[in-house]
Amino acid sequence: MGSAIRLLFWDNGAGGCALGLGAILEWHQPQVWSVSTMDKVPVEVVPGVYMFEVPFLPGLGQDDMTGTLCYLIKQQDGWLLVDTGYNHDHPYSAFRRHLDTLGVPIEDIRWVFVTHYHPDHSGLAGRIRSASGARVIMHMDDWSIMQYAVGAGEVWTLDGLVEWAKTLGVPANELGQFYDTASFGRTLFPSGLEPDVVLEGEENPVGDVGGGLRAILTPGHSPGHVCLYDEERKLLFSGDHVLVGITPHISPSHLTSYNQLGQYLDALRKVRDLEVDMVLPAHQRPFNYLARRVDEILDHHRVRLEEMITALTDRPMSPWELAPRVTWDVGSWDDMDATNRVLAVRETLAHVELLESRGRVSAIEDEGLNKFRLCSPGQ
Ligand SMILES: [Zn+2]
Repeated sequence: MGSAIRLLFWDNGAGGCALGLGAILEWHQPQVWSVSTMDKVPVEVVPGVYMFEVPFLPGLGQDDMTGTLCYLIKQQDGWLLVDTGYNHDHPYSAFRRHLDTLGVPIEDIRWVFVTHYHPDHSGLAGRIRSASGARVIMHMDDWSIMQYAVGAGEVWTLDGLVEWAKTLGVPANELGQFYDTASFGRTLFPSGLEPDVVLEGEENPVGDVGGGLRAILTPGHSPGHVCLYDEERKLLFSGDHVLVGITPHISPSHLTSYNQLGQYLDALRKVRDLEVDMVLPAHQRPFNYLARRVDEILDHHRVRLEEMITALTDRPMSPWELAPRVTWDVGSWDDMDATNRVLAVRETLAHVELLESRGRVSAIEDEGLNKFRLCSPGQ
């Protein structure tokens, strides 16, 4: 092992304290990893688990979201890698540097566990597989979507997307941008990749038999998002399902099933009470208060749902009409660029579908448009 490996540091409001090798120190206090130690070297989280950041491409990312946090977990035979980074030379050389620092030959990676299909997680899986012979693991419900992105050029298709966007009320002059945003990152996916292990159902053991690692299906951010739970060491590799400072984007599309947000909230409750000492997410920083963080995210959506109800009336509205009537972190609707509008409209749809599933809102088809209106009390 190289000497540049760091131990774990936490922010405790007093300049940070070392929690080397997983020693328990003020463990009952909510703790977030110190930003100052999120630097360019791998970190030993607990014995046999290393974390390092694979940077986004230059120009992508912001503030404390600058890359993908990847984890190496020691197996009886070699290592299991959790998530990768965008398929691009810049992140790949950073990934190889981290392995060199750790003294881990790439051939020793036996498994690549992809939490979800987005290219900042799956992107390098193909290159790593080619270089190491590792088996790539992902869930069927994401593989069925990623197939569109990793096939040969002519297979890359978002057939149906534009037609679907029209039903949300997206006007003709914004449809092009809608398509561009949805197809962002085509080249950053692992071209030609076929996973070796396709998970199905709710829970699956992964890695070496007896290794104690369990994949848990947590749909919402993507349909087949999976967290990895290490029950023995009480670690949750949470992917983008639970992050410390942001809520993951819930973005229904023509390829997803009904009520992604409802599925997401259920999947939050599913992990809430797991015995977890440390949440190891794919972005930002690790932290140790899973249940509290889940409650914060549930609260966030409760407030958003109320806001949608206030904005809705008994006049049916398309998601495109409703989105400008609620507030957005990125600013007012009029100032939003087309990309953010796409995200806002899809996020709005996610919320009204959940309200519809709860009987608060009813959906009406109106001349090809999907509209929603508030159910009157008692209805
Ligand atoms: Zn991500």
